Amino acid sequence: GAARVAIVGRPNVGKSTLFNRLVGRKLAIVDDTPGVTRDRREGRAALHDLEFTVIDTAGFEDADAASLSGRMRAQTDAAVSAADVALLVYDARAGVTPLDRHFAQWLRKRGTPLILIGNKAEGRSAEAGLAEGHALGLGAPVAISAEHGEGMADLFEVLLPYI
Ligand code: GDP
Ligand code: MG
Repeated sequence: GAARVAIVGRPNVGKSTLFNRLVGRKLAIVDDTPGVTRDRREGRAALHDLEFTVIDTAGFEDADAASLSGRMRAQTDAAVSAADVALLVYDARAGVTPLDRHFAQWLRKRGTPLILIGNKAEGRSAEAGLAEGHALGLGAPVAISAEHGEGMADLFEVLLPYI
């Protein structure tokens, strides 16, 4: 019930698609507080018989890891700090990018448990990218397709201990 799950990662990896899939028609809350939380969305998620609060984040908007936007950083920091577990999403088709690596390193310092999610894993074109995921030092990625709803049973299993 009361557990909070933050979805984090660089832009375009499918965080919001995952958020929408988890929240489904129960999507209600859009947090439009000015400033750092402007793009943060929060909703009630249901995954089989698990219910929890899920927080979507905008991700770091700048492709250059050296100049990460302060606002994105603060927003993600707040979401992760308040979460019981964070899902670090990367694009398994694109493979691991320098920004993913930077993100993983930065998140590890927060102390919130992290689960690595390899999204866009439908079909064969994600195989190499899923193998690359181990290099982030967070164990084997959980392969999902947020768009097609694949891998939700695996996501359920890895979330179970935290909810
Ligand atoms: P965000 O920036 O991380 O929130 O990413 P979005 O959820 O906005 O998705 C970015 C793009 O990736 C969109 O065009 C989505 O349709 C696409 N996308 C999201 N999930 C999947 C997936 O599981 N498979 C594929 N092939 N595309 C996806
Ligand atoms: Mg998004």
